[in-house]
Amino acid sequence: MTNTKILISGASIAGPALAHWLTRYGYAVTVVERAPAPRPGGQAIDVRGPALDVAERMGILDALRAHSTGMRGMSVVDADGTEIYRTEERTVSGGDLDSPDVEILRDDLARIITDATSGDVEYLFGDSIAALEQDADEVRVVFESGLERTFDLVAGADGLHSNTRRLVFGPTERFIRHLGISMAVCTVPNFLGLDHWQVMHQMPDGGMRGAMVMSARDNTEARAYLMFDTPEPVDYDHRDVAGQKEIVARALAGDSWEMPRLVEYGRAATDFYFDSAAQIHLDSWSRGRVVLVGDAGYCGSPMSGQGTSMALIGAYVLAGELAAAGGDHRAAFAAYEKELRDYARANQEMAVVNLRERRAQSGEAEDASAAAEVLVETGVAEFAQVVASYSVKDYGPDHSIR
Ligand SMILES: Cc1cc2nc3c(=O)[nH]c(=O)nc-3n(C[C@H](O)[C@H](O)[C@H](O)COP(=O)(O)OP(=O)(O)OC[C@H]3O[C@@H](n4cnc5c(N)ncnc54)[C@H](O)[C@@H]3O)c2cc1C
Repeated sequence: MTNTKILISGASIAGPALAHWLTRYGYAVTVVERAPAPRPGGQAIDVRGPALDVAERMGILDALRAHSTGMRGMSVVDADGTEIYRTEERTVSGGDLDSPDVEILRDDLARIITDATSGDVEYLFGDSIAALEQDADEVRVVFESGLERTFDLVAGADGLHSNTRRLVFGPTERFIRHLGISMAVCTVPNFLGLDHWQVMHQMPDGGMRGAMVMSARDNTEARAYLMFDTPEPVDYDHRDVAGQKEIVARALAGDSWEMPRLVEYGRAATDFYFDSAAQIHLDSWSRGRVVLVGDAGYCGSPMSGQGTSMALIGAYVLAGELAAAGGDHRAAFAAYEKELRDYARANQEMAVVNLRERRAQSGEAEDASAAAEVLVETGVAEFAQVVASYSVKDYGPDHSIR
């Protein structure tokens, strides 16, 4: 058996999920995460379609359901807070409420997956890969802390701005496609008194400027989602959170609904997450002994509604192919990409089409209520079709190297 020592960069969704599967097949796994501890925060995300099968095979589906957001529906309000649209059939964050999909807070999901691996996996928090060098036999890694180690393979699961991708494939700008929207997410008090409910507001001056607030953790808190159009990529330092808060405050200035209050909550938040909605397009997901998984390799953006599911599926398939190939990384990385490339592309295309349709149709709507309906309901059927267009393979338990 070859290639048994694997380093994964990133401990959000794709990283711990990959670690789970690799340790199950008997590999020795180290995960390095830049943050000092598992990162809090993030909006509700969705585990859907084939990713539900992956979660079931991981043995975490019941835990996911137990922590689901349990939304009952949503409203859209105007600048005065008057409800102009309401539905108990779907939500803008989670889609159809009668589907088997699980909507769960990102940090709850990350914790459930990480807890399921922690006994077997070495986690290095507060560190990052500073340099790596590979040859035919191994990858030599120098960490920012000064630690030097050698691994057989390295997987970059470090998100949209992947450090691993930058070091091995080239600068982010070469692979990123901005979708013209930026968003911030943070925890806020449940100041609207929402009961498993979400409220969305589009600011009256057109475009996608606005906010969504949803109750979380059995109404004990809420999550706010602030977004605005950015036709040109925003110039910001993705490590400078104070600077990001000011960008958001400036973009959402205006006395509309609860926007001033939300901006102030954002300024005070300790789990503020900001990014532009963007996709990653690469010709190949691996270079030699280094491979990418999740957002690092094929981010579809929050508009795809599939980022987390793709991370779970990608981790399952990558580990499964590696085990099936007896650790032969060339064969495994090629099979992983062949298996998932079309699905990743379909999800990315759907995000772009849906966003374009929403913009076009809401601009043509005859009143604010019709525009709200467009924003919530556009592309629902097409989305379900794309999600269901892939089924996960069964890699079976026989490939364990133990
Ligand atoms: C705090 C946070 C909040 C988020 N909120 C939302 C949201 O509200 N809506 C949404 O659609 N998506 C959100 N996302 C992205 C969402 O989690 C992903 O789209 C999806 O789950 C795929 O996960 P991933 O593991 O591939 O990437 P990500 O979830 O982006 O995880 C990447 C991980 O890599 C770590 N990392 C980054 N750089 C380095 C480095 N140099 N060395 C080591 N580790 C590194 C990051 O800290 C993070 O833990 C959020 C991500 C994070 C980290």
